[in-house]
Amino acid sequence: MQLENAFQDPQLCRALLQRLTRALEGRTLRFMEVCGTHTVAIFQSGLRSLLPASVTHLSGPGCPVCVTHDAEVAAFLDLAGRDGVILATFGDLLRVPGPGGQSLKHAQAQGARVEIVYSPLDALTIAAAHPESTVVFLGIGFETTAPTVAATLLTARQHKIRNFCVLSLHKLVPPALRTLLDDSQCGIEAFLLPGHVSTILGLEPYAFLARDYHVPGVVGGFQPADILLALCLMAEQRRDGAAAVVNAYPRAVDNAGNPRARALLEQVFEPTDALWRGIGRIPQSGLRLRPEYADLDAAARLDVTLPEVPPLPGCRCGDVLRGRMAPPDCPLFGKKCTPATPVGPCMVSTEGSCAAYYKYSER
Ligand code: SF4
Repeated sequence: MQLENAFQDPQLCRALLQRLTRALEGRTLRFMEVCGTHTVAIFQSGLRSLLPASVTHLSGPGCPVCVTHDAEVAAFLDLAGRDGVILATFGDLLRVPGPGGQSLKHAQAQGARVEIVYSPLDALTIAAAHPESTVVFLGIGFETTAPTVAATLLTARQHKIRNFCVLSLHKLVPPALRTLLDDSQCGIEAFLLPGHVSTILGLEPYAFLARDYHVPGVVGGFQPADILLALCLMAEQRRDGAAAVVNAYPRAVDNAGNPRARALLEQVFEPTDALWRGIGRIPQSGLRLRPEYADLDAAARLDVTLPEVPPLPGCRCGDVLRGRMAPPDCPLFGKKCTPATPVGPCMVSTEGSCAAYYKYSER
C-alpha cells in the first residue's frame, strides 16, 4: 500500500471517527478550514456525511480566487484594456466576476491579450518572446504561491527581462484568521490549518490562536485519516479545556516551516494592508514588492490603483467566507448562481465553497 493510500484506509478512518465521537462527549465542534484543497477533500471523500451531527464544517477564506476582491478584478480589467500590455494569469482567475459581472474572460473575448500560464516562469517566457509588449503577471495566492513569484522576479532581474512585472495581490493567512476570530458572529471553535501554507510558515505564525483566543489550531493533511486525526486533536483539546497549535501533518510540514522560502519572500516582498472579498481591508494581510524592486512592480510601473467598487448584487460570498452562512442559504445558490453561470467567485473556483457544495451535496 502506498503511503498516501494508507491514509484512506477505511478501518483507520472508522477508528478515528470513534475516537472523535468519544472526544466530543456531546460537545459541539464548529471548525473552519482555510484551504481550498481541504474544502474539496472533505466533500470529495464523503467525510462530511460521516461526521457526527455536533461537528460543523465551515469553509473559510482559503481559496485564492474566492478572496480576490472586486476592486482587484477591476484593476485587472483596467490593465487588460491598456495598449501594449499582455496579462499572464492562472486560468481560474479568468472567470472571476468584477464590477458589473465583467471578468477577464469577457475582456479576452473583446480582444484583450490575456494568457493562461501554469507557473509564473511561463510568464517570463512570454515576456522574452514579446519584447515589444509589457507582460504583467497577476500575483494572487497565499504564502505557498508567493515564493515562486519572488523567485521569478529574481530570475527576471538576473536575465535582464525588462518587459516583465508583477501585480502583487498576494495574501497572508494568519491576519485573516485573527480577523475572523474578532468577528463574534463567526463562532469558530477551532481551525483546521492549511497543510500547504504551513509547509512555508511552520507553526509559530499561528501561535496567537491559542495564546490570544484560546482556540485550537491543527495543521492537517488532505487524506481522510489526516483530516479525521486533526478533528480528533481539536475535539480532545476542547474536552480538556486546552488550546494549542499542533502539527498533525508531519510527513509534509516541518514545525519550523521552510526558512529558505520565507527568506525569499522577505527579500522581495513586504507586508501591506490588503482587500479580501466579502471581508474588506485587513491590516498587514497582503504582500507588496519592496521599493528596491519597483522596476518589476506593476503597481508602481503602470500606476495601478484599486478603485472603489460596489459589491456584486445579491452575492453572499462574504458571509460564506466568514462562516456566517452556508452556501445553500444564499438565495442565488443553485438558481441564478451555478458553476456554469457563477455570480460570485465562490462558485467560480473548483475549490470554492459554493462550487463544492453544488457539486458534492444533495440539493
Ligand atoms: Fe455568491 Fe453564488 Fe455563493 Fe451565493 S451561491 S454566495 S451568489 S457564489
